[in-house]
Amino acid sequence: MHFYGTQSVTNDGHLMIGGVDTVELSRTYGTPLFIYDLELIRKRARGFIDTFNRLGIKAEVAYASKAFSCIAIYQLANEERLSLDVVSGGELYTAIKSGFPAERIHFHGNNKSYAELELAFDTKIGCIVVDNFYEIELLKQISEARKQPMRILLRVTPGVEAHTHDFITTGQADSKFGFDLNNGQADEAFQKVVNHPYIQLLGLHCHIGSQIFETDGFSLAAGKLMQKISIWKEQNQFECTVLNLGGGFGIRYTEEDHPLEPQVYVEEMIKTVQENVKEYKLSMPEIWIEPGRSLVGDAGTSLYTIGSQKTVPNIREYIAVDGGMSDNIRPALYDAKYEATIANKANEQRNFTYTVAGKLCESGDKLIIDGVLQKAEPGDLLAVFCTGAYGYSMASNYNRVPRPAVVFVESGEHQLAIQRESYEDLVQNDLPFTLNKVSVK
Ligand SMILES: *Cc1c(COP(=O)(O)O)cnc(C)c1O
Repeated sequence: MHFYGTQSVTNDGHLMIGGVDTVELSRTYGTPLFIYDLELIRKRARGFIDTFNRLGIKAEVAYASKAFSCIAIYQLANEERLSLDVVSGGELYTAIKSGFPAERIHFHGNNKSYAELELAFDTKIGCIVVDNFYEIELLKQISEARKQPMRILLRVTPGVEAHTHDFITTGQADSKFGFDLNNGQADEAFQKVVNHPYIQLLGLHCHIGSQIFETDGFSLAAGKLMQKISIWKEQNQFECTVLNLGGGFGIRYTEEDHPLEPQVYVEEMIKTVQENVKEYKLSMPEIWIEPGRSLVGDAGTSLYTIGSQKTVPNIREYIAVDGGMSDNIRPALYDAKYEATIANKANEQRNFTYTVAGKLCESGDKLIIDGVLQKAEPGDLLAVFCTGAYGYSMASNYNRVPRPAVVFVESGEHQLAIQRESYEDLVQNDLPFTLNKVSVK
């Protein structure tokens, strides 16, 4: 069994996280339950930030909070001196509610609404990452009407494809995101914003994909962006102060994944940027990065209670848990793979092959196919590892299943970060049927 962060197993076979017994957590908070190991999140954050500091490079490490967004995680991110990426008015609102410093919030998205952009101006966030020509027009309208400045980056697609799953690649030319760097659109966007009285162009942004396990893609992309910046400097005396190379740093979901340490990605990026600075005779820009998954992914564990079992003779043994695609859509959506253990029998032999099904009314609602586990019985607890990113944040109320609770653990202590939804919560926005019914003769 692979342990993440502070995980261990007690003599009686209970999985411990952050010095807290997961069996105890299930009794206190119920299941399904998301458990976050704060020590591991801090370690990852420091791995990125400390490397920039050690090498004397000005940087912002922005937590891409679509991976997992709530008030408590934003407060932890602030404590760790991270910046923050938000991609919607809802995430921005949550960040402001959490007390996160507005000047370290960056706003992303390929279709930000007028109202969302106004919220960004109202709250005076640090930077908007501009995605398209329509957004430039909206920004001009809003900033001119208010006579209020706004710092921006232009998001470009450098045509670099990270080696990853097709569904989650955003860096290639055929993308809904950003201005194409190679077909003139990025230059056109630059001309539209460069001399604007309120829009302050800091530099360029790119995000080349997700679950990236090598540094070449980042280096290639950085080179392309800086080449473009050097042309703009020559032609327009443009001084680039920020180069944002995005997120997508890979994590270990299963033994097939071999991620690099945060410091390796950062060191390699810095080296490439410095080389390009030299080659193109630029001044060294700040480097911004945007880790999401790699900050919170393997720090999260989902805890379920096992219920029914079904044997399909000679084919498959199913065990079903009290959650599923409503709290983890990734297996159904991306064919994502996970590892698990029975949290109250973690020290027992793994001699059984089970397919872990959820409880949702959908045949594709399977969390793990043919996983090797300890013998499962009703009432046992199943811990699925590495569910901290794009798990809770993609959760739904399909089948009117309430969304799970989220608990933080650290140094033997635990606290609720998000309450479990109640049935009452599920109907709180429902209204009674009042239209006059056509009488049936
Ligand atoms: C999703 C996203 C990220 C974070 O990606 P991870 O794979 O979670 O690290 C960073 N930047 C942008 C623009 C994104 O869309």
